[in-house]
Amino acid sequence: MTDMNRPAGIGGILAPGSVAVIGASEDLTKFGGRLYTLLVQHKFPGVIYPINPKRESLLGIQCYAAIGDTPTAPDLAVMAVPRDHVKAAVQECAAAGTRAAVIITAKFSDSGEEGAALEREIVEIARAAGMRLIGPNCLGIISPANKLALCSSPALFVDKLPEGRIGIVSQSGALMATIFDRAQTRGVGFSHCFSIGNQADMELCDFLEFLIDDPATGVICTYVEGLKDGPRFLEMAARARAAGKPILAVKAGRTDFGAAAAFSHTASLAGSYDAFATACRETGVVLLDDADAMIMLAASLTTFATPARSDVAILTTSGGGGAITADRLADAGLPMAAFDDGTAAAMEELFDSHLTRVNPMDMGAAKFGGSTANSNKCTQALMKDSGTGLVIAPITTSPDVAKICMGICDGMEIAAEGGARKPCLIVVQPGQAGDKARADLRARGMIYLESIDEAIRVAEGYRTMLASSPRNPASSGSPGKAPEGLSGALDEAAAKTLLAAYGVPVNRGEVVAEAGEGALTAGMMDGPLVVKVVSPDIVHKSDAGGVALNLAGPEEVSEAIASMQARLAKSHPDAKIDGFLVQEMVSGAFEMFIGATNDPQFGPMVMVGAGGVVIELLKDVAMARAPVTPAEATAMLTGLKVAPLLAGYRGAPALDVAALADAVSRVSWLAADLGEGFAELDVNPVLVRVAGQGCTGVDARILMEG
Ligand code: ADP
Ligand code: MG
Repeated sequence: MTDMNRPAGIGGILAPGSVAVIGASEDLTKFGGRLYTLLVQHKFPGVIYPINPKRESLLGIQCYAAIGDTPTAPDLAVMAVPRDHVKAAVQECAAAGTRAAVIITAKFSDSGEEGAALEREIVEIARAAGMRLIGPNCLGIISPANKLALCSSPALFVDKLPEGRIGIVSQSGALMATIFDRAQTRGVGFSHCFSIGNQADMELCDFLEFLIDDPATGVICTYVEGLKDGPRFLEMAARARAAGKPILAVKAGRTDFGAAAAFSHTASLAGSYDAFATACRETGVVLLDDADAMIMLAASLTTFATPARSDVAILTTSGGGGAITADRLADAGLPMAAFDDGTAAAMEELFDSHLTRVNPMDMGAAKFGGSTANSNKCTQALMKDSGTGLVIAPITTSPDVAKICMGICDGMEIAAEGGARKPCLIVVQPGQAGDKARADLRARGMIYLESIDEAIRVAEGYRTMLASSPRNPASSGSPGKAPEGLSGALDEAAAKTLLAAYGVPVNRGEVVAEAGEGALTAGMMDGPLVVKVVSPDIVHKSDAGGVALNLAGPEEVSEAIASMQARLAKSHPDAKIDGFLVQEMVSGAFEMFIGATNDPQFGPMVMVGAGGVVIELLKDVAMARAPVTPAEATAMLTGLKVAPLLAGYRGAPALDVAALADAVSRVSWLAADLGEGFAELDVNPVLVRVAGQGCTGVDARILMEG
């Protein structure tokens, strides 16, 4: 019988009264053998039921042939059996009243339709019985706080599961085990680690929710491949933020830009990674690009107070180490701290007066006493320094590495008594000569880093955290009303009509059938003109010779249409030509683009960047969840590489950023209003004139699904 007093949900799964290991053995070459051995070795405090019909006992614990034979129904079951046995095992557990099962076995939805169908079946069986599933295709769970090791990884062959305040949810089991292993060798511990595999039943956000509410967890790390429920992820991010619990994330697929030959430029520039990154930034999730940096930032967050600023003080034992660190900081765009008067005064005692304010603070250059005696005093000063957000302390090889590191720890402790507890990232650079320092630091519960780069990445993580200002897309105030029932690709003329209805400035144009009609239309327009082919089969018009610019009047327009028609008949004989667009030419302006996509997880996203035909080349894009206000659009523009050009570079006049931001906001509303059927849109180029003179979209396309 299950104990009704146990906590419900994941809390209950992690504190089972009894665990059955289906596929248990003593064979360490097998998943089931390692998993069972590790569960026993780490002294799980409840009852263990090894299930193996061929054995009487395993590791001295009585064995059972099947779940039905155990004296009480196991609260939790873990399965490491061949795939074809999983369904029967799930059925047995469901029948016995087991509350949850962890399925290690793979080859379900991770390998084709047959596996996916089987996965759906076992989920149905479990749900009908009110049993929850973790996996399949996962590496299990590790809960040091509960002495629960349900994982076959060799990372667990250690004396004691390392306890700490970091929770992990990983879509990759191998990565979870690797993170766990690397971190524990540095003395970093965990509250609970979940490998979630195919997420057939319980999904990433279930575990995030648990860790957010879990008092033993202070920081959450997650490795994401693809989300099942984007909106819920955003909800969890908001909840974690409200709880003051940082979520750090690494996501696979950064370089997987959508199909390069997509309908719009926008789609090829903004893959799902960019949408995820945008969602993270807008909800305060700290996205990092590697797992080591994620764990070390998490360790730092659980060790130190969060700094108020990202200015870095370098405390070093070598001029060279300090200088390299300073260079790397500059590369990363991280500010070097300017020391305050208090620090300068405190340093009089140690340094010649011209060195008291110098960052990097090089203990090797001290007047006397060397680094050993000084590391304590320098650290105390930096902990109190108002210009310093965090300290990076690269320590080089010397006979005193351990003593210097302990001096830094002493300095931190003394400062902490006075309330100063900012991060101090000690980088133990030596090889074996640093081993004692590493051991001493671990014994003291102090984290250290192995390289300057690692420290820089942690500092970058802090900067991301400090810079995040979460926002939610507006929910009312649309400047227009999107028509219903749109489908397929809207050509330039149709797209511009829609944009104009939202108040996005576009140039005037008329579609004509042939050269004569073109001349008549041109006669009714002023200034230089442009002719473009209108064809559903020619998406990139200029590549196909379908754009003629700078035409002086009716005659040139009619000639351009005639020759374009003749040329396309040869080069694109199968293209359906719907006509020719005669439009006003806009000159003397800077080319930007505005785009939008509809992310399957996070909904409509708006983009703006450097445009025209160089758009893919420059990849200078800012993205936000749509809709955005003009003020938010202005902030997007500020982050672009071309921002200085917009602002008026080297004496050139400033461009009409306000008009561009207004257009971005209007496009974002259109994308949001078009609803579920919306796929992609781009206005490229938007020609931006000098301040006060507005901007004009001269090319546009919209794609609706269906
Ligand atoms: P496509 O992107 O399909 O090749 P565009 O309509 O964007 O075709 O035209 C290609 C380029 O021609 C634009 O990037 C822009 O530089 C220029 N251009 C197009 N229309 C105009 C216009 N009305 N005024 C000024 N320049 C234009
Ligand atoms: Mg274009």
